[in-house]
Amino acid sequence: MFKTIIIGAGPSGLSAGIFLARDKIPVLIIEKFAVGGNMLLTEKIENYPGFPNGITGYELAKNMEEQFLKFGGKIKEGDVNGIELKDNKKIVKIKNGEILECDVLIIATGSSRKKLGVKGEEEFTGKGVSYCAICDGPFYKEKEVAVVGGGDSALEEAIHLTKFAKTVYLIHRRDNFRAKKYLQDEVMKNEKIKILFSKTIKEIKGKETVEKIVVEDLKQNKIEELNIRGIFISVGFKPNTDFLSIDIKKDEEGFIIVNEKMETNIPGIFACGDVIKKQLYQVITACSEGIIAGYFAEKYLDSIF
Ligand SMILES: Cc1cc2nc3c(=O)[nH]c(=O)nc-3n(C[C@H](O)[C@H](O)[C@H](O)COP(=O)(O)OP(=O)(O)OC[C@H]3O[C@@H](n4cnc5c(N)ncnc54)[C@H](O)[C@@H]3O)c2cc1C
Repeated sequence: MFKTIIIGAGPSGLSAGIFLARDKIPVLIIEKFAVGGNMLLTEKIENYPGFPNGITGYELAKNMEEQFLKFGGKIKEGDVNGIELKDNKKIVKIKNGEILECDVLIIATGSSRKKLGVKGEEEFTGKGVSYCAICDGPFYKEKEVAVVGGGDSALEEAIHLTKFAKTVYLIHRRDNFRAKKYLQDEVMKNEKIKILFSKTIKEIKGKETVEKIVVEDLKQNKIEELNIRGIFISVGFKPNTDFLSIDIKKDEEGFIIVNEKMETNIPGIFACGDVIKKQLYQVITACSEGIIAGYFAEKYLDSIF
């Protein structure tokens, strides 16, 4: 039995784990994909303190994992698909049927990219449809690609793709961007980026891989087809909270609401990182929230034993 279970091995879960394991609290992290979370989608992290030349997301993830394991923390592969409460205990259910029990639960499940929900998106995912320009950009050397979205990530991805692609169509349904001004300036002056405002994607077409997209011009009510080889969808994030079967307080988009101690509305259940409602979604904020969750999780344990 582990006193504490953390769901998710991204930077927030690993930071919470490091804090607790170093204080000799038995702690288990359950991770469904790969240790590192969204850091693994980042080629180079340049704004995490302590690395003046930047560090790859993979390396940073490996370092955090090593630090956690060094203090005696345990990691288990598993897709958590339910939580129940029994007296003061938290019951964690894993998809393979396993059931685990703990005194304190920390939810650090992060967020996932939103889908467009158009015909062809599912079929061509991994065959021209991508949700990560940093990961898949190099596959599109000298090709035509499209980026969909108008926020910071979409514009950053479009700029990144110009390192490889011949042309990057930046397609946005509104007639202006939500992104930061300096990013807008950069895309405007980049000759490889063609901005298509007031347009939406109706369908993604191809045979084996993506060949074209059907685009609707919302102002002129016109449909046209664009020949492209890759489409990068960057229309926002969705918190990974669908598995939560108990009544944890969330906002209208599903982000968990916590106080400054990272406590949820349920005693003994904490949340940290990209899964919570907050202003800034970065590795450094995820880590600091993880540490805070670890600290107050330990205080909670002290109060019940
Ligand atoms: C392309 C990209 C580039 C980025 N670049 C930067 C950057 O340069 N600098 C920066 O500071 N930040 C950057 N970020 C943001 C940063 O990666 C996130 O803010 C950070 O990873 C959030 O950490 P987290 O631990 O909260 O969640 P995540 O990193 O999302 O980790 C959550 C983990 O939980 C696991 N999980 C989810 N549900 C379950 C479940 N039911 N059961 C078990 N496990 C589960 C997931 O598999 C995942 O491993 C970038 C993000 C992306 C996508």
